[in-house]
Amino acid sequence: MKNPPIFSLKEIRKRRKEKQFKGNNVVCSICNATYSKFGVFGKQDRPNAQCHNCGSLERHRLIWKYIQDKNVLEHTVRLLHFAPEKVFYEIFSTSENLEYYPCDLYPDLYTYGGTMKIHKVDITEIPFEDNYFDFILCNHVLEHIENDHLAMSELYRVMKPSGSGIFQVPLDYNREHTYEDLSITSKKGRLKAFGQKDHVRWYGQDYKDRLTKMGFQVTEDDFVSTFSAEEQFKFGLDPKEKVYWCKKC
Ligand SMILES: [Zn+2]
Repeated sequence: MKNPPIFSLKEIRKRRKEKQFKGNNVVCSICNATYSKFGVFGKQDRPNAQCHNCGSLERHRLIWKYIQDKNVLEHTVRLLHFAPEKVFYEIFSTSENLEYYPCDLYPDLYTYGGTMKIHKVDITEIPFEDNYFDFILCNHVLEHIENDHLAMSELYRVMKPSGSGIFQVPLDYNREHTYEDLSITSKKGRLKAFGQKDHVRWYGQDYKDRLTKMGFQVTEDDFVSTFSAEEQFKFGLDPKEKVYWCKKC
């Protein structure tokens, strides 16, 4: 007699959710799965946030739509990717027209099991020559870096002229100026001041200016508003999230 298939706990949970949220109200722009709605996610239980299949969040689906809209990956591209998100790593590492460099300061923390190695890279001292990358993806990294000016100048240095990048950060639009205090070093203190124990600042409305000062031509793109409210729900997008599209001219 044939043994019944054995599923991991993760797989069982996923199947259960797929059954619970069966439907066609929302569609994931990354894996194309459809559901009645996406799952809740985050400390404040954001509704309609996480894809039950690939795990993508609002920002991943927005960026993916943006990358496609800008035709970033239409041609052969040398791509540098900091803190590589699994959903993107899986696409990029198997894409034939990409020369892909996933990297992080702590590559050992990644257990994606993919064939492509994640390089150990300090964003304030990027070990590549000037003008090397066509495209750089660096999402939710700079808020962890004490000297973010140096990190931004390094991103600028290794980007090719006419190259581009997307550099998303958690941003508090109620703040005119970025709030940082490097004397706060404890986990508890950082959690209280910056909302997360390993963040070193709250970026404010001047985030764009910080990037501009380093030489980037920055488009603070309200791309999400090109979608109707119904479409924003359907694709599980955050209506407040802007895309920081940075070019080196
Ligand atoms: Zn998905």
